[in-house]
Amino acid sequence: MSDIKHSRLAVIALGSNMGDSRAYVRKAAEEVAGLPGISLVKMSKLYQSEPAHVLDQDIFTNAVMTVEVDNTICALDLLHALQAIEIANDRVRHEHWGPRTLDLDIIDIQGELSDTEELRIPHPYALVRDFVVTPLLEIAPDYVLANGKPVTKDTVEYGAVISVE
Ligand code: ATP
Ligand code: CA
Ligand code: CA
Repeated sequence: MSDIKHSRLAVIALGSNMGDSRAYVRKAAEEVAGLPGISLVKMSKLYQSEPAHVLDQDIFTNAVMTVEVDNTICALDLLHALQAIEIANDRVRHEHWGPRTLDLDIIDIQGELSDTEELRIPHPYALVRDFVVTPLLEIAPDYVLANGKPVTKDTVEYGAVISVE
């Protein structure tokens, strides 16, 4: 056996606040874990949280998952696969930060940085959103983003977690 790593760890955030939001998040997590070249490491519990930025909308169901991404899959391939899952789950693009059946964001991919409009990783708001930080700390308490920043509750400003189930 060689020591060469054929995959890297990534963090994906899931959110929904339309329809049966818990069902959308659970089903999407299964679909992400079932993508070719992706394998689930850990899935968080489901959290109910306050909307961030656009406050006049229903509360969200949020979760975070860690996955191993095969090196044959580049970051944009992963983004496009997540967008296809969003669309298959009734995602319609209305208002920015508005209500949605499913939102899948790439929070981080270990060893990778990207700062284009299409893909910014680490996700620029990751550390200020409680609905990302709290579930991520549940499944990966010592997580450090690819830019070297440790994940901590000290930086959260938006999207407060209300309850966990
Ligand atoms: P936010 O990114 O602040 O959470 P949002 O999730 O509501 O906002 P969307 O409307 O879902 O934003 O996505 C807008 C665009 O963001 C997408 O077309 C995608 O190309 C881009 N994008 C940039 N970085 C990322 C990322 N890390 N994960 C997912 N999409 C990203
Ligand atoms: Ca988002
Ligand atoms: Ca998104």
